[in-house]
Amino acid sequence: MDEEGRPLRVAVIGAGMAGILSAIKLIEAGLTDFTVYEKGDRVGGTWRENTYPGLSCDVPSHLYSYSFALSPDWSRRFAPGEEIEAYFERVAAEHGVVERTRFGDAVVRAELIDGRWHLTTASGHQDEADIVIAATGVLHHPRYPDIPGLDAFDGALFHSARWDHSVPLEGARVGVIGTGSTAVQITSAIVDRVARLSLFQRTAQWVMPQENPAYTVEERAAFREDPGKLAELHQTLADMFDVFANAVVDTEAPELRMIEQACLDNLEQNVRDPVLRERLRPTYRAACKRLIISPDFYDAIQRPNAELVTAGIERVESRGVCTKDGRRHDLDVLVLATGFHADAFMRPMEIVGRGGTTLEQTWDPRPEAYLSISIPDFPNLFMLNGPNGPVGNFSLIEVAELQLGYILQLVERVRRGECRELCASAEALAEFERAREEAARHTVWVTGCQSWYLDDRGLPAVWPWPFRQFRERMAAPDLAAYELT
Ligand code: NAP
Repeated sequence: MDEEGRPLRVAVIGAGMAGILSAIKLIEAGLTDFTVYEKGDRVGGTWRENTYPGLSCDVPSHLYSYSFALSPDWSRRFAPGEEIEAYFERVAAEHGVVERTRFGDAVVRAELIDGRWHLTTASGHQDEADIVIAATGVLHHPRYPDIPGLDAFDGALFHSARWDHSVPLEGARVGVIGTGSTAVQITSAIVDRVARLSLFQRTAQWVMPQENPAYTVEERAAFREDPGKLAELHQTLADMFDVFANAVVDTEAPELRMIEQACLDNLEQNVRDPVLRERLRPTYRAACKRLIISPDFYDAIQRPNAELVTAGIERVESRGVCTKDGRRHDLDVLVLATGFHADAFMRPMEIVGRGGTTLEQTWDPRPEAYLSISIPDFPNLFMLNGPNGPVGNFSLIEVAELQLGYILQLVERVRRGECRELCASAEALAEFERAREEAARHTVWVTGCQSWYLDDRGLPAVWPWPFRQFRERMAAPDLAAYELT
């Protein structure tokens, strides 16, 4: 209840993984007066938007699941994207999230007026909420490359996150720009369908080999019969990922050396042609860029109809891509697997906090939030998977679950009437950022590569401590870091 005896009203923005989670946990906490706002026509977030061939999650599916909704039915270790999307749809439907979601209407503005957030959607719908949870995702806004002539291309051209399924691939000459996780998955999936595949590589990538076995009918039956087995597997995988998370924040960690060796062995043993091998060999440490996980990328790029193009793109013409060595690569389809604007978060929503301060002003030159959750002057607005949190080769579901547990403890203070508003203090944020920047200098992400982890100063916009420390910080809020009004 608020001061006037009304139950607290909550607005959740986004019905992807984190928005579905928020709705379920709000219901569990008895905070049932809420609406989830979703600009799309279905739940699923990134799994709804990305439909490219080969889409999957390179975090094992038994880990990339809600801890309270483990599934015995995953078909493979790394289940395909469609299956993941179906999982989120099923969990959302089973927990009553769908009927609490307003679909097809994006929140475009949120302004704090007299202690309440006044929301406006694209259709003009208005709402007022005491609490806002921004579950708006991280890699959401496609980054289109600044390559001259893109508009002049006569064939089909689209970003990987806007895949045009009406374009036939069979028999086509397809170009893929980029060698991130997305481009690698696409390459492996389409190489045998297309006439020719040209992969335009600007920077070589380390590739960690991971097989993707199917679960047998017997294994799935065993999971169904004994949920304890599922929980055990979830925990084992979480422990394995903790090791990885700890390795990337300590450049001297033996586990990081093991990852580097596994990637090196993969390159040495699985790329036959020595010339191609050298062109695929990165010049920086493994896991500096987000590590690529693939059982079959090297096989795919060695197919007779595949070509790794490393000459550098000069421009695009109506018939194809011209590289700096004077060649033109004639193409029917050009896929831009060129990544996302990783610093947008809630933007382009217009958010106006205390004293008319806008988020745009506050986040100039870069986004910051205390523990990636709370922003001074933006009380009762909390982010899931916000800036500078744990991202990378982890389960963002576990991250969001921990963050939401923390946020709900803060919300409880408001519900109990201990305060009406709360947000991190400017001092707490400044101290957090100081410590984060210092720790970030010792991580693998700054050992000599470019990546979307790095901010405008070249510092990783990422949680730079062991994951255990994140769990500890999320266990209970330190109220001394908050301003309570
Ligand atoms: P990305 O990692 O940002 O990769 C973008 C690629 O495009 C890079 O290879 C980049 O080259 C290249 N590129 C960008 N602009 C270019 C230009 N103008 N000319 C030539 N090349 C250009 O994007 P992503 O592959 O979409 O992946 C983004 C993130 O999404 C991943 O890191 C991961 O966190 C997540 N993801 C996860 C999965 C999963 O299975 N869990 C799958 C896909 C994506 P440079 O390297 O030289 O910059």
